[in-house]
Amino acid sequence: MSPRPSIYILGGGLSGIAAAERLSRDPDAPYHVVLIEARPHLGGRTGSYFDTRARREIDTGQHLFLSCYTGTIDLLQRLGTKDDLVFFDRLYIPLWDPERGLNPLDVPGNKSQLSAAGGLLQYEGLPFSRRLAFLSVARAMPRTDSDVDHLTAHEFLKRAGQPDVVIDRFWELVILSATNLPSRSVSAALLVRILKESLLAGGHAARPGYNAVPLTELFVLPAMRLFRARSVSVRTKTRITGLTETGGRIVSLATSQGEIPLSPEDRVIVALPPWSFEKIVPLSWQETPLVDRINRLSYASPILSIHLHFDTPVRIPLIAGFHQSPIHWLFNKDAMEQRLIPETRPWFDWSEDREDDLLPTQMVSATVSGADTLLETPDAELAALVSRHLLLLDKKNTASPKGIVAVRDRFATPVLGTGQSSLRPEARTSFANLFMAGDTADTGLPATMESAVRAGVAAAEAILSESSARHVAQGKTAPSGEKAIPA
Ligand SMILES: Cc1cc2nc3c(=O)[nH]c(=O)nc-3n(C[C@H](O)[C@H](O)[C@H](O)COP(=O)(O)OP(=O)(O)OC[C@H]3O[C@@H](n4cnc5c(N)ncnc54)[C@H](O)[C@@H]3O)c2cc1C
Repeated sequence: MSPRPSIYILGGGLSGIAAAERLSRDPDAPYHVVLIEARPHLGGRTGSYFDTRARREIDTGQHLFLSCYTGTIDLLQRLGTKDDLVFFDRLYIPLWDPERGLNPLDVPGNKSQLSAAGGLLQYEGLPFSRRLAFLSVARAMPRTDSDVDHLTAHEFLKRAGQPDVVIDRFWELVILSATNLPSRSVSAALLVRILKESLLAGGHAARPGYNAVPLTELFVLPAMRLFRARSVSVRTKTRITGLTETGGRIVSLATSQGEIPLSPEDRVIVALPPWSFEKIVPLSWQETPLVDRINRLSYASPILSIHLHFDTPVRIPLIAGFHQSPIHWLFNKDAMEQRLIPETRPWFDWSEDREDDLLPTQMVSATVSGADTLLETPDAELAALVSRHLLLLDKKNTASPKGIVAVRDRFATPVLGTGQSSLRPEARTSFANLFMAGDTADTGLPATMESAVRAGVAAAEAILSESSARHVAQGKTAPSGEKAIPA
């Protein structure tokens, strides 16, 4: 038995990894970190598989990063894989529209809000008179996100003077991609938060990024190496089956490998999605506010990812979006492996010739967010659907796919509708040694990688600041490494 108290982190997705990384920075910390994961490997929803036909590792679902993902970028810096994340020098994405065809959204990558607004006004997917409506969104921003949490994103946009055509042919795709929910279902607070952290902070904060190596190489393998070096205990293939609570504390963890009794000094961080957490809470908690909130957050919105492999290359942009279409995004996997970014054009380049946006690839990944209606569609029909979208980008894209893998992720992200801010759990709970993390925790962000990482770090810091405060109360110096924690 370890003489030091233990901090048990339940769930080895990004949030659990971020919590374990934060807690294990100090080699002299007076506690032991234990990361418990049900599956044989860490990573959770950020996983990859080996495609035997394409003979390469592919992410089960393509993940897109934004340059405002400060927590994720910091985590990658600490894992030593920050250079495997490739950011565009600006927000440049060709977007297809049934009426206007393919037009790039091109926002300069500097810190000026004015030039970000200028970039939006140049988006030719909408008539110029309609684009002017973008400006009134900035004026409608509430002081705090929670001021608009009672509204859907759609209601907020209407109040902000957005005509239906601008919502349908611009905002809908933005919202669906950022929150995995349609504008009529998702809380406006999430849209407001994304805009504040990205575009409204200037184009510099809204640059898209992608992983040039599979997600397992980006997050999981380096985390395993780091945890080995820092003596974090990683227990994979260990499913938590229940928590036992007595007198307001968790006193034991039931697991598939046997029971883990907790000492009074031990702490528990729950880094599970709500639909996993609700299965392990004690029956007696059903009436508690925490569990009531978790139950109400346990509805999930699906994502469908379709990966196609071609013998003859097709030509598509690095990333292309589709308004009012069943497929939302196509990703050029070969260009990503080569770490390419869109060629920089001067902002005054009005030429129609977008030929150099099209790059050859033998592997295409497609994403459908909020994919309820396509989940049961057979693979062959999905392949035909993606092929039709490839033709919209270039008439010469007539090659037939040689292989298809469709990943139907029914539990992709939680449904964060109106009133979500009062449901999402804070890091501290009313149970003395229980802390909450996971992408659904109260970060104010949509349930994304960045939310998962920030929530993991916040739960870790809640424990560290608690032990710092106790040391101060006892007249001792806080252990080294805890000094940096803000009071
Ligand atoms: C297809 C897809 C595409 C996405 N695209 C993007 C994107 O482009 N950009 C973005 O920012 N985000 C994206 N996301 C969201 C992002 O992946 C998640 O928000 C993030 O990975 C969640 O991390 P987490 O640690 O909170 O949860 P999870 O990754 O779900 O981790 C929870 C872990 O707990 C484990 N677990 C569950 N139950 C138990 C138990 N009883 N005992 C022990 N362990 C257990 C699970 O196996 C899992 O490893 C996408 C998600 C999906 C599914």
